[in-house]
Amino acid sequence: MKITFFGAARNVTGSKHLIQSEGYNLLLDCGLYQGKREASNDLNRNLPFLASQINAVILSHAHLDHCGTLPILIKNGFQGKIYCTGATADIAKYILEDSAGIQEQDAAYFNKHLKKEEDPISPIYTTEDVEKTLSYFQEIPYFSFSNQWTQLNENIRFKFYDAGHVLGSAITLLEIKENGVTKTLAFSGDLGREYLPILRSPEYIKEDVQALILECTYGNRFHRPIADLAGQLKEIVNEALNKKSKIIVPAFSLERTQELVYVLHNLIDQKIIPSLPIYLDSPLAGNITRVFLQHTEYFDEQFWKDFGNRNESPFSAKNIIYTRSTEESEAINNAPGPFIVIASSGMAEGGRILHHLKNNISNPNNIVLITGYQAEDTLGRKIQEGITPIKIYNETYPVRAKIITLDELSAHADQKDLLLYIGHVKKLKNLFLVHAETPQAQAFQNLVKQSYPFLAVDIPALGQTFEI
Ligand SMILES: [Zn+2]
Repeated sequence: MKITFFGAARNVTGSKHLIQSEGYNLLLDCGLYQGKREASNDLNRNLPFLASQINAVILSHAHLDHCGTLPILIKNGFQGKIYCTGATADIAKYILEDSAGIQEQDAAYFNKHLKKEEDPISPIYTTEDVEKTLSYFQEIPYFSFSNQWTQLNENIRFKFYDAGHVLGSAITLLEIKENGVTKTLAFSGDLGREYLPILRSPEYIKEDVQALILECTYGNRFHRPIADLAGQLKEIVNEALNKKSKIIVPAFSLERTQELVYVLHNLIDQKIIPSLPIYLDSPLAGNITRVFLQHTEYFDEQFWKDFGNRNESPFSAKNIIYTRSTEESEAINNAPGPFIVIASSGMAEGGRILHHLKNNISNPNNIVLITGYQAEDTLGRKIQEGITPIKIYNETYPVRAKIITLDELSAHADQKDLLLYIGHVKKLKNLFLVHAETPQAQAFQNLVKQSYPFLAVDIPALGQTFEI
């Protein structure tokens, strides 16, 4: 069996790993590169393999850096099935439609402002391409996960385990027979953490696993425990009540938004914090929240104690206000504090959050709450690092609002979670570290080698092939 790493190799986007065995070509994830526009566009448009020769795709979860180039695969002649969980298929629809919308707007804007020497560009894919892609999804029901194998051909089968990262996220276990010898390979996708709100903890694989492709985004970091979150939010909300603050939260539409609403709703119900308006100002997050309610089979026991047994939705209450139209979004500007507004994008690179930041970041009574990873060069990262003034839509704004970072809700395993996970994998021989910048991956590689000296640990380069 050959494994070639075509993405998320020494970086954190574009997840794509090709498994080849006796003429069968299986792709694990088909994610979008995100970063500097020109370089990413080239990588995204030109897949490094022939789409028509891929027999099947297994999709780990619906984040764009894992599913975002599926429409290009279909456009280029892929004819197989895309296997994933039901929740992943339902969420991927909205994530891909949103992505196509952004590609279309971007291309239209670029073409409108063309310089003499430039040629017009076309979007890397369109809403129509996404619609076609959706018919290729083949859903695996959650309750058959760790018990039931899906046969890809007479020699290759797979099963899913819960990855506990975002709704629908799965770890894939592959069993491949070559010349009568059975080999096992697992792919973590993105690995979650214990005790995240809503989701169950990542499952350990029961079978022996010879080779593991493991994400290690936070291979050199420790997150603050999730148990600290209630205390932190209580302090922030109380400060907001005193100062009539507007709390501005750039949020990721999948998982972080739902978790934050869940935790705030629960704290209000328990009278730990007083009720205040929570605006969910993101149509994409609104759509994805509806998918959550259709897939309560993924939810953990705590959900049933907090809300489920009373037949209540964690995502609706009188003070939780969903906005759709631009007018509704703009009206939030005139609402008096205290309130919380959650809007995308999560790294403040576009979307409605920019309007809220522009209107509120220069007022010292307000609070900007950062709840997720902020990549280099993004506006979110600049705000997080305390840079002032900042630029939004070519205008300059001094940053006077209080900036608070909460990393308790990180959806990725940290160093100790990753090490613990490796410790539970039976008969492991080869470990491939992906989905991390090189320094993070190397720090984690050294640590793993100290703990497991007999394990082969590699950090694959882009396009590198391994035979196992
Ligand atoms: Zn992810």
